[in-house]
Order: sequence, then structure tokens, then C-alpha cells
Amino acid sequence: MLDWKDGQPFSSRFGDVYFSSGSGLEETHHVFLQGNALSSRFAALPTGDGFCIGETGFGTGLNFLCAWRLFEQNAPPAATLDFFSTERFPIDDDELSAALALWPQLAVQAGALLACWKRRVPGWNRWHFAGGRIRLTLALEDVAQALPQLPAGGVDAWFLDGFSPAKNPEMWSDEVLSAIARASHAGTTLATYTSAGWVRRGLQQAGFAVERVPGFGRKREMVRGRLESAGAQATNGRVPSSAIVIGGGLAGCAAAHALAQRGIKVTLLEAAPQLAAAASGNPRGILHARFGAGMNALHRFVLAAYGHALALLDEMLPVDGVNRAECGLLQLAATDAEAKRIAKLSAQEWPPHLLQAVDAEQAIHLAGLPMAHGGLWFPAGGWVVPPEVCARLAAHPDITVRLDSEVTALEAVAGGWRASGAGFAVEAGKVVVCCAHQAKRLAPFAAWPLQPVRGQISVLPATPQSARLKAVLCAEGYCAPAVADRHVAGATSSFDDAATDIRATDHADNLAKIAAHMPALHQTLGDVEPSDGRAAVRCSVPGATPLVGEVAPGLYCSLAHGTRGLLTAGIAAEVVAAQMCGKLPPLPQDMLDALAPSSRPGLRG
Ligand code: SAM
Repeated sequence: MLDWKDGQPFSSRFGDVYFSSGSGLEETHHVFLQGNALSSRFAALPTGDGFCIGETGFGTGLNFLCAWRLFEQNAPPAATLDFFSTERFPIDDDELSAALALWPQLAVQAGALLACWKRRVPGWNRWHFAGGRIRLTLALEDVAQALPQLPAGGVDAWFLDGFSPAKNPEMWSDEVLSAIARASHAGTTLATYTSAGWVRRGLQQAGFAVERVPGFGRKREMVRGRLESAGAQATNGRVPSSAIVIGGGLAGCAAAHALAQRGIKVTLLEAAPQLAAAASGNPRGILHARFGAGMNALHRFVLAAYGHALALLDEMLPVDGVNRAECGLLQLAATDAEAKRIAKLSAQEWPPHLLQAVDAEQAIHLAGLPMAHGGLWFPAGGWVVPPEVCARLAAHPDITVRLDSEVTALEAVAGGWRASGAGFAVEAGKVVVCCAHQAKRLAPFAAWPLQPVRGQISVLPATPQSARLKAVLCAEGYCAPAVADRHVAGATSSFDDAATDIRATDHADNLAKIAAHMPALHQTLGDVEPSDGRAAVRCSVPGATPLVGEVAPGLYCSLAHGTRGLLTAGIAAEVVAAQMCGKLPPLPQDMLDALAPSSRPGLRG
């Protein structure tokens, strides 16, 4: 929680100010920006190159906003900035808004940060600003947990900003300082307002040459440093010029978008005559983040993906009630197993903008219909029209979409990869395979355990009573509020079935789940007959964690998103784009390892 003292943000927890009470802005410039010589280093970046700043305490984001502004003022147009920061005690929306209102000169940047702030989730968050030029990776967790998850050698300059070492020694521990050195390369610099002797010695022990220089305002001295010899190779890579993306569903469109945003010319190849022809083609998809209380690697990934998807959708598809609704989503404690899962999750601490435990009475109020159970309420949950998401992602001047282009062969050629099919062949430096279980037709993926999973949704005519449903309801199945007098309910799940015929048995299955777990809704629907439906094939793998990452030099994949593609396609695309360009990944290393095809038994590259 943020308090105020003399008109400035103050932390009672630590008994210290967030920034100098004289002028935080000038202090940031003096200590962190000049301390790392950032104006000249930004100006000297080759076009298309990138720079990475690491920070230990995000606080109000003032340092981030100042670095962003300086970068835009000095760096060549096609250069990009990665800013990584950690924050264990994130302030809430109103506090951030009030703190940043102190700096009218940063109003544009502050407005953009505030819009993303409401999407924050515990763990790692990745947000884009200034048309994708500025990327913020914000680890909302303890600094000692976050820093070891950075790639070795990835950071070019550090802002050490964690309250005074006397008041918050954990932020300056040997463990933290050596993680900082590990994520640095020879030539990486650091700056901090503190000149405490034990911090200087800790930095020296970690491999930094440090010097005391005049501090800001009343502070006589500050410290800057430089990693002289040891340290990993700098990892900041070059952006390739061209890439092929195979598959025009959510995974492929998101990958094409993420690459094009980084200045790569993308050819997007889709076998069907339109984008979103398979599992991404349902008339509506729900934003449903479901995790277990243990928060294993898959669940932590789903959480990060959910936050990322909401922020990406905010950029692409405004909430308009036609293509997207943020009506909230209720996970009902309708079975014993669900009640147990929900009780365990409810016992943990969650930010209320992300999820809240609700009882049956609150559920009735939120859903607009009688409810026998409480559950978990996701205020930002809702539904979107997935084909519209695909269309907006693919509508980028650097993406060439080629429909009716089924890739039947993928081969390594000098300088890259060739994808070919009947009557066409395309070559590019890099390739990303995003064509779900169809990837098995391509040589490198033939032996992968990619499983087709048939799923059918049912379109149900609304009645005046069922039209009162205000939120998405989820139990074993789901049902979305009516739009144009139609509900969408789903979905069946048939493993190793790749047929897309509409089956009466599947409609009955969807209705039976509503009857069993949402009886009041079922009653309002009367003797409903589905007016329409759609069956499509998703792709899954044993363990259900998607396969995302490099498969062979220059060959990447984003596959097996199962029923969660709406959430996971965007962050997976960001993982692939960061790997391809040698830039800061959006997720911690242990999660990248869990997603990596190379870490999965039974997969051959
Ligand atoms: N850079 C900030 C700005 O621009 O507003 C000011 C940072 S403030 C001096 C230090 C921040 O470190 C606080 O927001 C605090 O909550 C955070 N912090 C303290 N201990 C931490 C820890 N162990 N891990 C991560 N963040 C921590």
C-alpha cells in the first residue's frame, strides 16, 4: 500500500520514499539515466538494434516512464527498448494514478501504463507501448525469485532502486547482486542512489567495478558501476529480415503479428480459403483462465497468458459488445471436485481485479439468474469473436497472407527454410509452425504426440428469461450471455477424433452439462433445440502444456494450445518472437523450459 507524506508517495512498510521528495523526475535523470549514460548509448544504437534495462523495484513506474521518454528522444526509429523490473508489493490502480499525476509531462506514457496496470497478474507481465517499440516485462514477485529467471547476459544497464539498503537489506543481498551480475555482460553498467559501503563491496564481489560520483540534491554521493570482465556474452540479438508462419489460426496470426511488430516481413501461409478456419473459427470463444490451487508450471503459464491476452485484446479489439464483451466469468463450485479446487484457490491471496471468491447470493447478483452455488468470479473474463481477433492480428503492413496454401514440405535451405505445397514455394530466414496437429505432416514433427481433439459448440436460441444471463457461466461446460438472441454453449471434447460433422449427441452432451450444473439457466431455456453448432479440431499433447519454442536452428513452433488458444496464443507468439530476435523473453526461464519442445520426452527436432 502506498501512503503520502508531504505530497509524495511514501511506503509505511519500509519507512522510505519512492523517490526524492525534492524532484523525483530530476533524481531519476541524474541517478539512473545519466548514471548509465543512457542518452548517448541510446543514440549510438544501430537501427533495428535493441537495448535492455533491468530494475530492482518498479514502484510507481517513474523510472520506466522516464527511460521510455529518453529512448524515444534519442534512439534511432527502428530500435527497441526492453525494460525489465520486479515489484513484490504492487500498488493499486488509484494509487498509481495519483502518484503519476505528479508528472504532467509524462501524462501520455502514464496513461498507457495505467491502461495495462489493470490487467496485471501475479508473476510475469509483458506489455507493449509506443507501437511495440517499448516492451515492459514486469515480474510481480520477489526480486530474489525473479532475477535468477532472466537469461544470462541479457541486461545492458541496471537501475538499482529498492528503498535504502538500511531499510530494505533484502533488496541488496549478495544473492540479488550476484543474480544481477549473472544477467549482465562485460560492459553492462549500473547506477544507484545509495553509496552504502556494504552495497559497494557486494557489487565489487559480484564482479562490478564501482565508483562514487556526486549524488542528487542533498545526497552527497551515488554509485555507478560496470561489469568489467566476467559475465556472459551479450545476448541482445539481431532481428531477422523475413519469416514464414505456417497456420492462420490464433497461434499463427498472433505469431505473425508479434514478428511483424518487430520489423520482420512475414508470409503467413494458410491451407484453407480463409483465416481462422479450424478451432479458432468458432463464432464466440470465452476468456476462461482455469488453474489449480497448486499453481504448477502449466497453471502459472495460464495465469501469465490470461493477463497478456487481456492487454493484447485491449490493443486489438475494443470491448464493444459485438466482437468482445467483458461481462465477467463465473466458475461455479457445482461439483465436489470443483468446490474443493475453488475453496483452495479462494484461501490464497488474489488481487480482486483478477479473481474473487463469491457465495451463491453474490453469484446470483453477478449472473442475473438464480444460482445454487458460489464459485470464483473473474471480473475481466468474457467472450470474444476469435475470427475477428485473427483478422486484426493479421492486418499488419508487414504481413502477407497467402490463403489456399497448404504446406506439404518444410526443408532447411541455405540461409533459412523453404515451405512448399501444390504450386508454391516460399523461402525465409526463419519459420514458425502453428498448424496444430496438421504439423505432423511436416517432417520434423512427424513423430510428435500431437493429438486431435474434436470439440462441438451449440448455439442456443435465447428466451426472454435466459436473456437475463449477464456473465459467462462455467462448470464442466460453459454458456455465454445471449447476443442477438443466441447463447453459445460448449464444448465437447473427443480425443483422437478429427471429424467436424455436427452431431446431435454432442448437442445433447452440451445441454446435459447445463442441466446438471446450471439448472436455473437450463430451466430458462425451456425445451430448447440448438439452432446451430460448429465442430472443430483442437490440438493437444500429453500433459496439456503447449509446445512453444525453437525446434531446430531457425525453426520454431507454437502448437498444442488445446482449448486455451484464445489465452495462450498471444504470449506464445511473444516467446517465439523474443527467441527469434535474441531479446528478453516475456516469461521466466523455468516456464520457458516447461514450454520448450526440447524439454519434452518423446519429441525429436
Ligand atoms: N523505481 C520506482 C519508481 O520509479 O517509482 C521506485 C522504487 S521504490 C524506491 C522501491 C520498490 O521496491 C518499492 O515499490 C517496493 O515495494 C519494492 N520492493 C521492496 N522490496 C522488494 C522485494 N524484495 N522484491 C521486489 N520488490 C521489492
